[in-house]
Amino acid sequence: MINSKLPNIETSIFAKMSKMAADHNALNLSQGFPNFPSDPALNALVDQAMSDGYNQYAPMPGDFGLRMEISKKIENLHDRFYNPEIEITITAGATQAIFTIIAATISKGDEVIIFTPAYDCYAPTVELFGGKIVPIQLKPPFYEVDWQEVADNISSKTKMIIINSPHNPSGMLFSKDDMLELQDLAEKNDLLVLSDEVYEHIIFDGNVHQSASKFEALAERSFVTASFGKTFHNTGWKMGYCTAPENLMKDFQKVHQFVVFCVNHPIQKALATYLKDKNHYLKLSDFYQQKRDFFLHLMEGSNFKIVPSKGTYFQMLDFTEISNENDIAFAERLTKEHKIATIPTSVFNEGRKDFKQIRVCFAKTDETLAEAAKILREL
Ligand code: PMP
Ligand code: GLN
Repeated sequence: MINSKLPNIETSIFAKMSKMAADHNALNLSQGFPNFPSDPALNALVDQAMSDGYNQYAPMPGDFGLRMEISKKIENLHDRFYNPEIEITITAGATQAIFTIIAATISKGDEVIIFTPAYDCYAPTVELFGGKIVPIQLKPPFYEVDWQEVADNISSKTKMIIINSPHNPSGMLFSKDDMLELQDLAEKNDLLVLSDEVYEHIIFDGNVHQSASKFEALAERSFVTASFGKTFHNTGWKMGYCTAPENLMKDFQKVHQFVVFCVNHPIQKALATYLKDKNHYLKLSDFYQQKRDFFLHLMEGSNFKIVPSKGTYFQMLDFTEISNENDIAFAERLTKEHKIATIPTSVFNEGRKDFKQIRVCFAKTDETLAEAAKILREL
């Protein structure tokens, strides 16, 4: 027998709800993934890379051509140069990047500030390495950060702040002012920052993504993570990357080489070519804004209270006017009785606080969105 290192951790809500959707033959708007295909042109590049023989280990930090394209992309968008030789590593999705960052930096007793509702992998990974989570609860409907509250939660043991903008599940964004506040606190208190930017290219209404890499003093102490799966509609490929200044990336790679050593080689070759066309990521916001607007239009007149998502491919729905159930019971009942699966968001909150909000993923065909809205509007 072993003593579990994570005695209180259950199976992830994404696995649970996707399984429940399948078991009950329900529309699956729970786990965040598109139900339309990855671009055939990108798939063909992967086929080509396999035929060309890129079927053995890639270099440990990743294919150099891909690292160069990522470096160019960040320089164009955020005016920051990451040296592709030593400041970029290709990872098995953002999840592996996040795990590796925490493994490389967090030791017993270190405190890590997270904003809840928080993506589910941060806290368990910090705890696995003996760190202590200091959660700061954001509140609906706008999920804004009170930076004085953050300052009040920093102690001599605080090592890192984890941020995520555009934010899963709320769909909120950090503004330039938020980033400046963060930069100020991180500098004053000598903190590391993990900036989870997997939805960097899905941002609406003319807003601009405020990457940690845009802000000089912040970039110096930040690890930034990204996900190709989110950007190119192929979450099952589990491809992503991490950027950080050389001194941080050195320690990241010390761990990376023993977590995975390197990641899928033919897909890296394909992505290196595909990234050369900026439209492949710059048009994504328009693509998803159409889906968000289509869905919101269909939901007009429903009994859910809705604040439009500003980024990500998620929409929060407040069901206080529909049911008194807790959000888990409500989401389970919707799946079993109404044949639509969503995510109850209390599982991401401090103490599982229930604000009666469920999350739907609108990375779906218009046909699926229309079917979903029809069910939801009748509640
Ligand atoms: N961070 C957030 C906020 C996410 O929503 C996800 C899910 N894609 C990840 C990290 C993990 O990304 P990946 O699938 O590339 O591991
Ligand atoms: N990021 C996806 C979501 O928020 C899920 C990823 C996963 O299943 N772990 O739904």
